[in-house]
Formats: sequence, structure tokens, C-alpha cells
Amino acid sequence: MRPLSELVRPNILALKPYSSARDEFSGTGANVFLDANENPYNSPFNRYPDPLQRDLKMSLSRVKGVKAENIFLGNGSDEPIDLAYRCFTRPGVDNVVAIDPTYGMYKVCADINDVEYRRVTLDENFQTTAEKLLAQCDKNTKLIWICSPNNPTGNDINRGEIVKTIQGFGGLVIVDEAYSDFSQERPLRFDVDKYPNLIVLNTMSKAWGCAAIRLGMAFAQKDIVDIFNKVKYPYNVNMLTQKQASEALKEPYEVDKWVKIILLERDRMIDAFGFLPCCKKIYLTNANFFLAKFDNAQAVYDYLKAKGIIVRNRTRVTLCEDCLRITIGSKSENNELLSALRQY
Ligand SMILES: *Cc1c(COP(=O)(O)O)cnc(C)c1O
Repeated sequence: MRPLSELVRPNILALKPYSSARDEFSGTGANVFLDANENPYNSPFNRYPDPLQRDLKMSLSRVKGVKAENIFLGNGSDEPIDLAYRCFTRPGVDNVVAIDPTYGMYKVCADINDVEYRRVTLDENFQTTAEKLLAQCDKNTKLIWICSPNNPTGNDINRGEIVKTIQGFGGLVIVDEAYSDFSQERPLRFDVDKYPNLIVLNTMSKAWGCAAIRLGMAFAQKDIVDIFNKVKYPYNVNMLTQKQASEALKEPYEVDKWVKIILLERDRMIDAFGFLPCCKKIYLTNANFFLAKFDNAQAVYDYLKAKGIIVRNRTRVTLCEDCLRITIGSKSENNELLSALRQY
């Protein structure tokens, strides 16, 4: 890996961050707070939240098995995705490499930041190799995006190839593990100590059932976390989100239960899809959704929509022609989808 100081945008390296009242005094023992121009009334909403979310990070550290200093928290995963561009890529100069197809936000944030986005098309098994990814890199490639399990394909990307990519690349490799709770693969977040150029993304939006509160996280070595913290909005994770996430983290067994039911339902759905005359192929999945190929995905999509059932039409995505992406819902939602497709 190249030194981090060479990878960071020069203006970010030189940046002196905003210092909030809560940064300058975060100790204990004080009981009169006249430093932040807050209103003394309307407790508890009158006080600014902890800008570094220390309590929440302690709970997350226990549940996720990652040290608190290796955790960055953002307004959904969207925030660390955008921050990776803003911290590490120079607009109009640098580029990033990503597997294709994959999650759409990596490209949107590249466009917003005026950064070239280089795609490496997956093979027919939706896999790639370190060799293919590294072949697209040059001296201005700062980031490689790998989503595993991948969205919209659903499969784990070969772990050996991910590790080879991390070890062979001078820039940063960002592995998005939004769906790792549904996979049997050992999460890569446990290895952030081992790889100084690895950033792993997680979210509360999927297995944790908290999409509404907007909490995403990035796990990385402390020097990278410090750069993200320097650039983020001072109070990027509001108090309601911090509180609700702390509550959710008290019940990790609840999440395990949901994941088990969702995986059983997924297997049941995949078996049932195998008997649908309109379904041509079901792709292997390690997530809470699966990709299915039809003769005419658009027609099936429209038919389901007319019945009030919405799935994701991926027919215009690379390698996903005539494919619909189907999220595993509750038993009754899944049954509604099945009975509609049986009548198609
Ligand atoms: C759903 C999803 C996310 C979650 O994004 P949030 O902003 O945290 O809700 C992140 N990455 C991928 C690949 C996803 O599919």
C-alpha cells in the first residue's frame, strides 16, 4: 500500500476541521452547559448529540467484534461511500475501479464527485479475479469497490480474490458487507487490523431491520477513521438514531432469529420458483434476496405491479437481462408473490 498521505486529497490532508463545543469539552463532572448556545428548555432534544457517538460505538464494538477506534458511523452507508470519494479522490484526475453489476451508489457518488468510474464485468458466475481488477488500475486509481454478497446478484465474491486484491493494490479496497449477516462467509471486518488499505462497510438497514433510522458504518484502521471524522458534518448521526441503534443492539438475538427465518423462507421461495413455468433460472444467493430470470421480465414486473406486488426490475443492468430481484419478505408476503406468479 502507498502511504496514506499520498492517497488522501491534498486539501483534506491540510484541512483543519471544525471544532464544535462538544469536541472542546467532552469530559464528565460538569453540570452547567453554557458553551453551545443551546436552549435550556425542551430536554433532551435541546442538547447537541455526541459528535463521535462514543456510547453507541462501545455497544457496536461488542456486537460487531471490532474495536471502537476502528469504527466510523454515518448517515446510512451512503455517507461513508461519499466520504471515500471526498477524502481520497481528486475530481477530474483520479479514478476508481468497481465490479459490474453492483450497487448503484458507488457510480452515483463517483459522478457527483467528478471521478472516473471503471467497470470490470463479472463472469457468467458473477465472479471476478484480482488480476482483472488490478489490470484496470493506474497511478490515479485510488479506490476499488467490491460488494460481497453482491447486490443485485446476491452471491459472495470469491474471498481469495478479494484478499489478493487488497494485498496487490496500492490504494484502498472498500468491501461492502451490507448483507454479510445472511452469508456463511466469515465477515472481513474482523481483518481490518491486518490490512491497512481495507475499509469494510456495514449497515443497520438490512439484517438489523432499521433502514428508517439511517445508520451505516465503516470499519478501518484508525488513521482512515480519523480522516472520515475530520470531513463529516459535525453532528452527522442525530440523537434519535444513536438512541434507537443502542436499543436495537441490546437485542442481537432478535436479529439472529429474523435472519434464520428469512433464510428458511429464501430456500422455500427458491424451491417454489423452480416449479414456475415463467421462471427460467434462479441464481445462487448468499443474501436476503435472489435474482431470477424470466422470458420477459418487464411483462412479469408489470403483471405483479398491477396486483400491488413490487419487485426490482433489473433487466437493464449488465448481465441481468430479463432478471427481477426479489427481496424475501414475511411468509404471507412471499405467499402472495408465489400465488400471483402461479397464475401468471
Ligand atoms: C442496502 C445497501 C446498503 C445500505 O445503505 P444504507 O445507506 O446504509 O441504507 C449498502 N450497500 C449495499 C450494497 C446495499 O444493498
